[in-house]
Amino acid sequence: MNRLLRLSRPDRGALFVLTGPSGTGKSTLVAHIMASGVDLVFGVSATTRAPRAHEVDGHHYRFVDDTTFDRLVADNALLEHADVYHHRYGTPRESVLSALERGQSVLLDIDVQGARQVKSSLAEAVTIFVCPPSPQDLRRRLEARGTESADVIDRRMKMAQEQLKGAPEFEYLLVNDHLETAQAVLLGIVLAELHRRGRQAVTADRVARMADSS
Ligand code: 5GP
Repeated sequence: MNRLLRLSRPDRGALFVLTGPSGTGKSTLVAHIMASGVDLVFGVSATTRAPRAHEVDGHHYRFVDDTTFDRLVADNALLEHADVYHHRYGTPRESVLSALERGQSVLLDIDVQGARQVKSSLAEAVTIFVCPPSPQDLRRRLEARGTESADVIDRRMKMAQEQLKGAPEFEYLLVNDHLETAQAVLLGIVLAELHRRGRQAVTADRVARMADSS
């Protein structure tokens, strides 16, 4: 791991929320940054949707049935939850909050409804809205997955337009028109946020002592 990435552990965990319409490449960006060596854990969501061929339970999602999801909601075990394209998705509360308390930073990949809920309960969350370069590009990406029917793709395109209206509510805006650039921008946002003085209490103390001793 390079030195810059080793320096990225703050004293207080930061919560990063990657949001935006489905099909904008959020999960590719997540995979890249998780492999980059930055000290982040991915907040694995619970969902009632069926796993796709490459997806591993407990790694990409925790795949649950409706009854289990109902229980998670009733037990207040979800930090946020939303219906997305007729399936239910939610972020487990305990694992995210306890990671943050330990000083561990967390990355979530959630839809706009969920990102709004997270921001309203945890105002310090850093929100990043990922959008496609054009509607045509979004349709191409959804079709290229080869996992959804034409019907589902039409529904997702409509929902995407709705979600795009939410873009101004979020702090960072990332147009994913070139993957390597988008990856570099996301890494830049994460590293900059982790180096905020407010998240570097020990370093800030050391600097204050240096200032006193000179
Ligand atoms: P997919 O089914 O394609 O993996 O995800 C569909 C959408 O659900 C994506 O926009 C994804 O970001 C969102 N999503 C995934 N997990 C969660 C979650 O825990 N909560 C919310 N609100 N949305 C989620």
